[in-house]
Amino acid sequence: MKVQKIPQGGQVRGGKMTERLYLEDSYLKECKAEIIAVEGRKVELSHTILNPHGESSAHPQPHDKGVIVINGKMIDVSKAVKEDGRIMHYLKEKPPPLGASVDCFLDWARRYRMMRNHTAMHLLQHLSEELLGAHLAKDLECRDHITHIDLEVEELTDERVKYLEKVANQKIREDISIKTYFLPMEEAREHISSSMVSKSKKKLVSAMERVRFVEMGDYPPVVCYGTVVRNLREVSQVKILGKHGHLFEVKTGGIKRIAFVVV
Ligand SMILES: [Zn+2]
Repeated sequence: MKVQKIPQGGQVRGGKMTERLYLEDSYLKECKAEIIAVEGRKVELSHTILNPHGESSAHPQPHDKGVIVINGKMIDVSKAVKEDGRIMHYLKEKPPPLGASVDCFLDWARRYRMMRNHTAMHLLQHLSEELLGAHLAKDLECRDHITHIDLEVEELTDERVKYLEKVANQKIREDISIKTYFLPMEEAREHISSSMVSKSKKKLVSAMERVRFVEMGDYPPVVCYGTVVRNLREVSQVKILGKHGHLFEVKTGGIKRIAFVVV
């Protein structure tokens, strides 16, 4: 079958662009979609539940994987990547034709691990500020397994990091809900002045019409385009990893790095 090519450039073709369902509901595991663009073995879908690599500079997280199904045939989606504003799904086989209706399924085990990692990252961000008086030295970035946060803090000891871990796990055992929501940019600006947001994120916000926030319990809302769990309990447990016999690592400029996993 001849693969139909699409013109290069531009985010919207034929008035269509992808509905990013994962930003509205991170728990969606499947959706129906139409193929709205085909480019080699990459396709663009009318709707997707796959969070792509490069979703935004606000807390990048590893791409999702999944499968699309057409007429009972399963095609693996090895990754979803945001390219020039479009979400491209990389298929392992020849794609269905333009306009085809497909069912899209998410690799949920992988995604759920990212959701727990991402949520734990925000918890440690809040607690670092609250307990250590630390600010983020760099924007947060969620990783597949070991995730880290880089902090600006003058003094840090293993005992304080141990205490951070202890309080984090106490919070995880409490019934603390996490909400995600969009605000129009004008309304969002009020929150953006918060110390929880870095300069680069303020720049990002000025370029968008709607801004997505993640709000954990009573902590201030944070600009975030990642996927998070609904209740902190789902994180289960955070374990801070040591390096060279210490619970944190001192990086260039005196930045303190705390690495962790969820277990
Ligand atoms: Zn985030």
